[in-house]
Amino acid sequence: MKSPLEAPEKQIAEETSVKPEKPAASVIDTSRMSKGQREALDLAEASRDPLDDRGSFASNLFIGRYDFGRIYPFPEQSAEERAAGDPFLQKLETYLREHVDPDEIDRTGEIPPENFAGLAEIGAFGIKVPQQYGGLGLSQFNYGRAAVLLGSWDGNVAALVSAHQSIGVAQPLLLFGTEEQKRKYLPRVAGGEISAFALTETHAGSDPATMSLRAEPIPDGSEFILNGEKLWCTNGVKAGVLVVMARTP
Ligand SMILES: Cc1cc2nc3c(=O)[nH]c(=O)nc-3n(C[C@H](O)[C@H](O)[C@H](O)COP(=O)(O)OP(=O)(O)OC[C@H]3O[C@@H](n4cnc5c(N)ncnc54)[C@H](O)[C@@H]3O)c2cc1C
Repeated sequence: MKSPLEAPEKQIAEETSVKPEKPAASVIDTSRMSKGQREALDLAEASRDPLDDRGSFASNLFIGRYDFGRIYPFPEQSAEERAAGDPFLQKLETYLREHVDPDEIDRTGEIPPENFAGLAEIGAFGIKVPQQYGGLGLSQFNYGRAAVLLGSWDGNVAALVSAHQSIGVAQPLLLFGTEEQKRKYLPRVAGGEISAFALTETHAGSDPATMSLRAEPIPDGSEFILNGEKLWCTNGVKAGVLVVMARTP
């Protein structure tokens, strides 16, 4: 039944069913890029949400439409998958209880360096990263269980660990990275080199289209120079690698 809160049919149709007349051509000149960079860009472009297939439960909420069919029945974790995650969950719980002092972290405003090392040692920075790239190779469900456990013990450590591998380098590379990028970066981030995600700017938050930081390729196309400012970058001061959202020419 249509709720009075739901957006008008016309708006829903416009926002969910618009089909581009033809696929948008890449606006970036890739001719001088390395093969790896070109492949990465092509992969990212091809992975854009197609408008005619738009529709996670959450994205539909933004236009006042809720489609419970997309979230129910709530998926159950199989016994086999749960068993695969249990040893890590147990290790993580023991580590948190014995080595992470949430009150001390709140008092000092710092997560001690030995916690970074200890969490790296048990694999907490590469939970979903496949084993071939140095991670634990666990499922999203088991990652979610770890996030719940972390959040129940200490919000600071939960933010560190989750920003690192959900919006930081690991997840975007798993979804959209080339093999070359995965081999280069995933072992580093799974091993504990901290990563972060830089989208927000003074005038860009919920609407990333307003962002102004630019990535300009240098003349030989081998690198980009970033010009602009970012803020509110979780893990930013600890990160060795970052995902940076930028405008390109
Ligand atoms: C704990 C924390 C960690 C963060 N970590 C990161 C990080 O690691 N990297 C990063 O890049 N950013 C990070 N951010 C920033 C965060 O992503 C932004 O705060 C967020 O994108 C919202 O942007 P904004 O604050 O500019 O709010 P705005 O975009 O200005 O929104 C303000 C309000 O208006 C509402 N609103 C906006 N647009 C619409 C619309 N079209 N229709 C209806 N309502 C609307 C919003 O819901 C909100 O209530 C973090 C923020 C927090 C709080």
